[in-house]
Amino acid sequence: MLNTMQDVELRVPRILDHAAREHGTRAIVTRWADGRETRTDWAGIAHDARRLAQALERLGMRPGDRIATLAMNHAHHLVAWYGAMGMGGIIHTLNPRLFEDQLAFIIGHAEDRVLLYDRAFQPLVDRLRPRCPTIKHYVVMDGEGADSLGDLIAHEDGDYAWVDGPEHDPCMLAYTSGTTGDPKGVLYTHRSSVIHALTVITPAIFNLSSRGIVLPVVPMFHAAGWGLPLAVPIAGASFVFSAVNEPAVLCDLMNRERVTHSAGVPTVWLGMFAHIDAGNPPPAHLQLASIGGSAAPRAMIERLMGMGMDVSHLWGMTETSPVGTAGQRPPEWDDMPRAAQLDRTEKQGQIPFGIELRIVDDAGVKLPRDGTSAGRLQCRGPWVVRRYYRAETDAIDAEGWFDTGDVAVLHPDGTMQITDRIKDVIKSGGEWISSVDLENAAIGCPGVAEAAAIGVPHPHWDERPLLLVVRKPGATVDGDAIRDHLATQVAKWWLPDAIVFVDDLPHTATGKLLKTELRRRFGDHVAA
Ligand code: ADP
Repeated sequence: MLNTMQDVELRVPRILDHAAREHGTRAIVTRWADGRETRTDWAGIAHDARRLAQALERLGMRPGDRIATLAMNHAHHLVAWYGAMGMGGIIHTLNPRLFEDQLAFIIGHAEDRVLLYDRAFQPLVDRLRPRCPTIKHYVVMDGEGADSLGDLIAHEDGDYAWVDGPEHDPCMLAYTSGTTGDPKGVLYTHRSSVIHALTVITPAIFNLSSRGIVLPVVPMFHAAGWGLPLAVPIAGASFVFSAVNEPAVLCDLMNRERVTHSAGVPTVWLGMFAHIDAGNPPPAHLQLASIGGSAAPRAMIERLMGMGMDVSHLWGMTETSPVGTAGQRPPEWDDMPRAAQLDRTEKQGQIPFGIELRIVDDAGVKLPRDGTSAGRLQCRGPWVVRRYYRAETDAIDAEGWFDTGDVAVLHPDGTMQITDRIKDVIKSGGEWISSVDLENAAIGCPGVAEAAAIGVPHPHWDERPLLLVVRKPGATVDGDAIRDHLATQVAKWWLPDAIVFVDDLPHTATGKLLKTELRRRFGDHVAA
């Protein structure tokens, strides 16, 4: 049978064309690092992106070339994404929080040819420059003068047709933070990016429409900003960007701009709570707070819900573009007691169309969705990685399953619950103790600001849990109080053998607990 429908390649620039045409006047607000605020709209972003595409071609860039950014969230970063992808290039977001050696490695591995960056990173760029011979052009995105984005596009007229081609062409490159080994690149295609963006606007994930006003705290430089830079223009929603992540700035912007949707890792919300506790007004218009990147503690979800907003807990990774699951409300939600709503939201959500998940044991045997079996979480779908950038072999098995490195439980109703990362799980007497569950239970204890659980070697049990705790300022909570609290939340044999109080905990470049460092520091803390 002949194909009787139109063949339209799913290319990312179509998204911007749509936003400019149908939602051209929706505001894009930026609060810059120096405190200035500027406004443009989707028509303005589209015009500047075309001018940047022209300028990049003038610099000699060709389809397939990698164009890197080292930048916070702002309107020019958005222009850089669409300008680069629009001329057939590959936008490569660098994470400025990575170590310099990792950045130099990543830039060399990606063979980036242009770097667009924020002035705040000038010292870092100066240090990287001699180590990055592939980069031929440096452009400052948030300044003025000879090397600025404004200057680069000043003489372009924007009369430009996007480079067209197959939807399977690559358009974006993102590296995992590489907490173990060298960072690995994931090369998204136009097709995978568009399908992912179409999915994340749905009620199942961000629930976006043209009425939405979105402030993404999640940085555009990590995990593709959870897909929002492509999803928001599909919905025709408005963007509010902040190039700084201070709670005072974010809360003020959210209130002045009447922000309805925001997304960020748990630490972002913790910072906001401290700001509100100091007597400042909470965000009044926020309808949906999306939390992901690491597990959202129950107490955090409860507080946000108490502030009158919906909370969605997301799970994903760079390899899944990044959204894999998100919390959805079941039909009976309104009749559920608050505790049951929290039980559900605490888990990592449900599976959207396109994604398939399964759990397997160490031998690769599929485990049931029974709400108790924990196994390696594997996934597949049109926005899941097949092969890392420049790798020689696929990262999936013969049936397309990608092993996420996470340990999870699947519940009969389709809810997914992350219990750990394979390398962080505490193996005690042949059984697994979830470090994440221990940490979340500990954070629920009054006086505890942050907690980390690691396995330390034990002569009899193989490993036993050690809990490291940071107290809240002024708190005097002690080990006994924490142990009593934990005893109401977890099995007795899970209780940590030792609790150590520390001033702070080390984090990865993306704000996750750096367990490798903790194991190195406390690994010889022989459990009693
Ligand atoms: P990396 O930190 O290696 O760069 P990513 O930033 O892509 O990797 O993070 C992906 C990992 O973050 C997941 O594999 C998972 O372990 C963790 N993660 C993401 N969202 C959640 C969540 N909601 N709950 C628990 N863990 C999460």
